[in-house]
Amino acid sequence: MKILVINAGSSSLKYQLIDMDDESLLAKGLCERIGIDGRLTHKPQNGKPAYEADVPFPTHKEAIEAVLEKLTSAEYGVVDSMSEIGAVGHRVLHGGSEFTESCLVDDACEAAIKKCFPLGPLHNPANLMGIKACQAVMPGTPQVAVFDTSFGMSMAPKAYIYALPYEYYENDSLRRYGFHGTSHRFVSARACELAGKPGTRVINCHLGNGSSVSASIDGKCVDTSMGLTPLAGVPMGTRSGDCDPALLQFIMNKYGFSVDEMLNILNKKSGVLGISGVSSDFRDLDNAAAEGNERARLALDKFAYEVRKYIGSYAAALGGVDVLTFTAGVGENSASMRASICEGLEFLGIKLCPERNKVRGKEALISTDDSSVAVYVIPTNEELMIARDTLSLVQ
Ligand code: AMP
Repeated sequence: MKILVINAGSSSLKYQLIDMDDESLLAKGLCERIGIDGRLTHKPQNGKPAYEADVPFPTHKEAIEAVLEKLTSAEYGVVDSMSEIGAVGHRVLHGGSEFTESCLVDDACEAAIKKCFPLGPLHNPANLMGIKACQAVMPGTPQVAVFDTSFGMSMAPKAYIYALPYEYYENDSLRRYGFHGTSHRFVSARACELAGKPGTRVINCHLGNGSSVSASIDGKCVDTSMGLTPLAGVPMGTRSGDCDPALLQFIMNKYGFSVDEMLNILNKKSGVLGISGVSSDFRDLDNAAAEGNERARLALDKFAYEVRKYIGSYAAALGGVDVLTFTAGVGENSASMRASICEGLEFLGIKLCPERNKVRGKEALISTDDSSVAVYVIPTNEELMIARDTLSLVQ
C-alpha cells in the first residue's frame, strides 16, 4: 500500500508518499505560503525531474489538490492515479491525555484535536486544516492522526505531574506531555531492535534546532525533557529550555515586558542563539568557536553540559542504561557535540570510539567494543513512523 504522509502547518504543508511494500520513499515535497500566495516544491524519487514554481494556494485544500496533481502527473508523477494512495497519515502535535496511540480520523478524533487547541495553539488548528483538506479532496481515503504527544502518555504520574497546586492538572490538564514523540518512538524502537533483548533501557537524544531527551524501556516512554510545551528541557537553537521561573518576573519587571513579550524572548531569542549572540545554527557556532568566539564556545559547552545532565538523570530514572542514541540534525551530524556530551560519562559505562564517532547521517555504532552502554547514531524518520502507524490502523 502507498501512504501519503502530511505535516500541515499554518502556512505550509510537507508531504511524503511512501510505498509500504518496501518502505521506500516515492516522492516528497513542500507547499509554502498557503493563504499568502503559494509555492510548490515537488521531488519525485524515480528519476523524474523536480518541480518548483509559484502556485496559488488560497487554502490547504488547493495545496493538497496541487500535490495530488503532481503525484499523478505524467511528467512529475510517481503513481498512475489517486486511487493507488491507500491512506493518509497526518502528524498532529497534541492529542492531550486522551490519545495514547495513533487513531483513525473520525468525529471523536476531530473533536479531541479541537479540544487540544489551547494546548497546541499554533499547530493543532493547522493540523486539522490539513485533515479537512484531505477529506475534501480525497473522500473515501482513510485518514489517520499520529500524535506527537502520544509517546509521553506512558509516563507515570510522578514523571508527568508538575509540583504545582493539583487543581491545575485536574481542571486544565496542565502536565508534562513531551514532544518530538514520533521521533523518540522511531529511534527507541530501532535501539531496542539493535539491542535485541527484552527490558532494553534507552536514552535518546533528539538534538536539532529543537532538542529533547527521552528515557524509555522497551520503547515505552518513562520520562522526556519537554513539558506542557516544547519550551522545557535542554537549551535549544532559540529556546531557553528549563530556567528558574522567578527569573521571568525579574526580567519582566525590570524591562517592562508583557507575558507574550517574555515568552517570545524565551522561544525565539534564547538558547544557544541567546548565549552566543551569533546564531541558532550549530554549524555557525562551531565555526565561530573555532575562530575564538568565547560566547559561541560557551553556548556549545552549555548545550553539551545540559544534555549530559539529562543523560545522568535519566540513567537514574531508568536504574541504568543499555543504549544511548543520538538523532536529528546535530545528533546525526556533529561528532564534536556527541563527543562533548559523552565526555565524563565513563562512570556510567559510556565509552565513545573516536574513530567510529566520525560517522555522519547514517546508522552506526559509535561506542567502543568494551563500552557497557551501546551508543548509536540512528537517523530519525518521523514520516516513516507515521506511515507505519497508518498502515497498521487501516489494515
Ligand atoms: P534539525 O532541526 O533536526 O533539522 O537540525 C538542525 C540543526 O542541525 C542546525 O542547528 C544545524 O546547524 C545542525 N547541523 C546539521 N549538520 C550539522 C553538522 N555537520 N555539524 C553541526 N551541526 C549540524
